[in-house]
Amino acid sequence: MRILVVEDETKVASFIRRALEEESYAVDLCSEGVAGLERARAGAYDLVILDLMLPGLSGLEVLTTLRKERLLTPILILTARSEVDQKVKGLDAGADDYLTKPFAIEELLARARALLRRGPSDHAQILQVEDLILNPATREVTRGGQRIELTTKEYALLEYLMRNAGRVLTRPMIAEHVWNLDFDTFTNVIDVYVNYLRNKIDRGRGAKLIHTLRGTGYVLRAQ
Ligand code: CA
Repeated sequence: MRILVVEDETKVASFIRRALEEESYAVDLCSEGVAGLERARAGAYDLVILDLMLPGLSGLEVLTTLRKERLLTPILILTARSEVDQKVKGLDAGADDYLTKPFAIEELLARARALLRRGPSDHAQILQVEDLILNPATREVTRGGQRIELTTKEYALLEYLMRNAGRVLTRPMIAEHVWNLDFDTFTNVIDVYVNYLRNKIDRGRGAKLIHTLRGTGYVLRAQ
């Protein structure tokens, strides 16, 4: 098992390295963002431990870039106690777990073991139907390589449709998953949103992907 540690505080970095090496992991250290990004890309690591406050490129930028490039390696981020906001951003950007400094080394080892057991991250699992691509880590949607801007609800609806591609989703299912509400009062809203989505995803963009099943619901699938 190979682990990359990207951490600019020398003391913390060597402390982590020593502990990991005692557990027989192979460890590489990087003390700076740009180098960390390059190493993570090139290195075929089983785990990346990434401090968020780094010189050069921030840990968050490193993380976002790696997930955009579909690197699925599990990533554990390290944050200072004062960086609650960063932690949330990190998890949203596709980190698998986090640890707040200062931490007990046993806890770091336990989390590392858990992530290594779990294997490649599915946070960054790209969803694709034909040329429509949705990246849950960055929330980017493209069709035929063109970026599509969606509102929060449109995005949630599309992600639900794509995660269930080929499967018919009834209006009550959509109401519950996307709006977290009961269906009764909701009929029109769903149809209206599906239409918004259709205009952005399908209209003038080649093969139709969102299909209506009269009286039943909707399905997203290739022609
Ligand atoms: Ca730091």
